[in-house]
Amino acid sequence: MKRKILVTSALPYANGSIHLGHLVEYIQTDIWVRFQKMQGHDCHYVCADDTHGTPIMLRAQAEGITPEALIERVWHEHKADFDGFHIEFDNFYSTNTPETRHYADDIYLKLKAAGLIEVRSVEQYYDPVKEMFLPDRFIKGECPKCHAKDQYGDSCEACGTTYSPTDLIEPYSAVSGAKPVRKASDHYFFRLSDPRCRDFLKRWIADPRHVQPEAANKLNEWLESGLSDWDISRDAPYFGFEIPDAPGKYYYVWLDAPIGYMGSFRNFCDKLSTKNGQPAETIFNEYWGKDSSTEVYHFIGKDILYFHALFWPAELEHAGYRTPTGVFAHGFLTVNGQKMSKSRGTFITAASYRKHLNPEQLRYYFAAKLNSSIEDIDLSLEDFTARVNSDLIGKYVNIASRSAGFITKRFDGKLAPISEPALLQQLQAAAQDIAAQYEAREYGKALRDIMRLTDLANQYVDENKPWELAKQEGMEARLHEVCSASLNLFRLLTLYLKPVLPKLAANVEAFLNIPPLSWQDAQKLLPAGHAINAYQHLMTRIDPKQVESMIEENKASLASAPSPVRHAEKQVHETKAASPSPQPSDGTTSHSTKPASGQVAGYPQGGEGASVGAVAPLISIDDFSKIDLRIAKIVNAEHLEGADKLLKLTLDIGEEKPRTVFAGIKSAYAPESLIGRHTIMVANLAPRKMKFGLSEGMVLAASGSEPGLFILSPDEGAKPGMRVK
Ligand SMILES: [Zn+2]
Repeated sequence: MKRKILVTSALPYANGSIHLGHLVEYIQTDIWVRFQKMQGHDCHYVCADDTHGTPIMLRAQAEGITPEALIERVWHEHKADFDGFHIEFDNFYSTNTPETRHYADDIYLKLKAAGLIEVRSVEQYYDPVKEMFLPDRFIKGECPKCHAKDQYGDSCEACGTTYSPTDLIEPYSAVSGAKPVRKASDHYFFRLSDPRCRDFLKRWIADPRHVQPEAANKLNEWLESGLSDWDISRDAPYFGFEIPDAPGKYYYVWLDAPIGYMGSFRNFCDKLSTKNGQPAETIFNEYWGKDSSTEVYHFIGKDILYFHALFWPAELEHAGYRTPTGVFAHGFLTVNGQKMSKSRGTFITAASYRKHLNPEQLRYYFAAKLNSSIEDIDLSLEDFTARVNSDLIGKYVNIASRSAGFITKRFDGKLAPISEPALLQQLQAAAQDIAAQYEAREYGKALRDIMRLTDLANQYVDENKPWELAKQEGMEARLHEVCSASLNLFRLLTLYLKPVLPKLAANVEAFLNIPPLSWQDAQKLLPAGHAINAYQHLMTRIDPKQVESMIEENKASLASAPSPVRHAEKQVHETKAASPSPQPSDGTTSHSTKPASGQVAGYPQGGEGASVGAVAPLISIDDFSKIDLRIAKIVNAEHLEGADKLLKLTLDIGEEKPRTVFAGIKSAYAPESLIGRHTIMVANLAPRKMKFGLSEGMVLAASGSEPGLFILSPDEGAKPGMRVK
């Protein structure tokens, strides 16, 4: 029976780069979608950038561009990363669109008509200079526990304590540096505490198709302790959708980001409609209408479970839409057993991975680790290298590379009939079990089974030794059959691996000269006389040096401080008093499931992840004036014995004695070209003892993702020692 399935992944926030923590989810979802498509089902996979909120607004201001220009640029970056990892969305859209606005308004007005929206006065920190309310992440101050300076308003990065911004000692606005004041304003709330929501959710969670068992336990705990109402508005200035009957109030994340699933799908329906002539509205209602018989699944990180399995179904139910068929949560990613870390170089962006390594190898490794639970998964880089080299190159690709050449060279590229099909039949018989494992998101089990079959196929090649048959008289027919059987085995293994390795599978299909493999093709074999194309190299083993250079690059490029995040604000004014149970303080994250920062795709883009490629957090003019920049004349520049990257510069900044600075610009400048030039240096950087001596400052240079390094020059007339400010 042909199923109709709509699948989503959580929306990435348009304020940062995609990193390996995000990719766990997109790869998990993409494998599932590709599997459903191979089954012949109608499966649509949609996603969008989550584009609204204060961080986007402020970052655009800092860059001197409009928020629209910023989210457009980030959309292209995200799209390139997804394409690079073969994440094949049917539609990758944006939440800043008429479609999303339409459904946000529709849902809001229906909830309001149902008596589920309430207005309450809320007191929050306000920046009197910037004239705006401040999200927790934009308030900084001294940690009340360990007294570390400059900590965020929700948690201390030095000691890990979580608190509310009012607990900070000497709080200041991270936007303007001003001392924030308490100010009241009207906020709009969705009444999740209403008995109608509670009763509905009790029933909804009890259905085992809707959530995983461990998720149901968590959700029931939350239900028992009582649900809080949800703050769904923010005050101007804000980048988002203004609430239709509330001028100056904007929908906060929970009332526009997930609705982006519907907005993106509606946009996709328009495209489908042009193709098949069915009205877009009809297609949309088939999936989102109240009595829909189609399937809708959300893949999410466990940190946004509260939201996707409580708030979202309650919201849909009471606005007259269907609720999800299933919400599939996954755990977080650790690297080498630890939280991803910039200083260790394990906070790896998708773009930097792509530069050094093959994306399908990461897809394979993640798949080997993934199952249907919400357990965390670990990327052990050593194990990654060993496993990919052993499974994919040593075992799988090896089958084809040892057989194909003989077929091409000795048999005109044509296959022989198979007289002993027992092993092939054994591989064919596994199709159903492997399919069941993909369907249940037990990818690790599926790959273990496929690798067992791969071992059998290798054993067959080893026992029959085509390379020896090729040297023996009168063994032509045997050689022909063995190589033909090997390629048939290889074809079946490729079919089973195809959801995980789509590009490799396409290359194999081209080499075997066959149309794209679907799951039912497992019951067929390549017939005698079928002509293949010449074997092309399929995959290269991982050299541990590639992994090392990726780690080094991430250490070097990601050393900046974290930037603010969108949704780290606490829910304000809950109807319930703080409960002893793990009620999520910001509506997304309970203490027991607190995400390692920024590791998972989804709305609360925490910590480090959001800063990748982003403009650093705002600093005050006082912060800036701490940096003493001076015009320096390069009086000498020379190579250093044994230094790959450094040049030794002697800089005159008008002091009695010139300064020595070791600058990492050897790749871009010949020393003699620098002598006599003026440039800009940081004059009050603490001196640093290096292998070659003491470095007494730093020369500024520009660089980006493209190769190239550019030192700065002042305009004519600037004299050594002049201050730059
Ligand atoms: Zn602290």
